[in-house]
Amino acid sequence: MKGLKQFNGHKGIFAFRIDLDFFHPKHVEKTLEAAEKHWIKMTWFVNMETGQFHEREIKRIAKTQDVQNHGFLHETFKNSEKNLENIMKADKLLQEMDIKCSSFAAPFGFWNKELGKALEKTGYEYSSEFREGKSIFPFYPNTGEKKARVLQVPIHPICLGNLFESGYNEKEAIEYFGKIIKLLYEKQVPIFLYGHPTGRLGAYPKVLEKIFEKVNELDDIWFTNLTDYAGFWKKKKFKQRETGWDEHNVFVEDKKSKRKKIKAFYKGQLMRVEKKKISKRLHK
Ligand SMILES: [Zn+2]
Repeated sequence: MKGLKQFNGHKGIFAFRIDLDFFHPKHVEKTLEAAEKHWIKMTWFVNMETGQFHEREIKRIAKTQDVQNHGFLHETFKNSEKNLENIMKADKLLQEMDIKCSSFAAPFGFWNKELGKALEKTGYEYSSEFREGKSIFPFYPNTGEKKARVLQVPIHPICLGNLFESGYNEKEAIEYFGKIIKLLYEKQVPIFLYGHPTGRLGAYPKVLEKIFEKVNELDDIWFTNLTDYAGFWKKKKFKQRETGWDEHNVFVEDKKSKRKKIKAFYKGQLMRVEKKKISKRLHK
């Protein structure tokens, strides 16, 4: 396997996105500990409706991690002004904590054109929403207006919470992430994963540790974070990269007992989640 120019010459690339919705200090601490133990700088999108009350903890996270904006209200609106207002309210609260943001991750991963238009007005560099069926590599979404400047950085859209809700236990979840990491690496697409600390990664920090260990076993990985990678992608002016795999960005494993929720795909080894169900299930 050769390196890719989109990976800065490396064979693979890894980043982890945290969505911090409801601030649970203990679970945040456990998540942070796992990252620091493995020297991983993750990108934390912090919701500021609860985040506003945790200045000390957010500043602590920012010492080793990349802190970004997950909105004030945990909602995407159908109106551009409302989206902009919601983004900038969180931006201001973070600025008051001496944190300057350059990106946004939409609550529940819900991107719409009205959000796209709002993002163009923020001066932000990128957003991250995992729009399945579009692309696995970064791209500029169509906002219906002139060419977008805000890059979209997709991630693999199955998090620990989705697995738990589909009946996986901790051990099975670790196996799932092990398999998906291997698959993404072999396909030479970004290994960009995400998760939530509260009740998930922070309650089961072993899952995160096993993910880091698994990636560490791979040859020639560029460990980065979403912000650095978006900057790299824009600087290099890459065009959208076709993978021939674009429609298949979403997988869960073949768990026979969960037939109702998932649909056969990919030689019976992996399963594709039905689109409708994804949007309901994602990002809980
Ligand atoms: Zn969220």
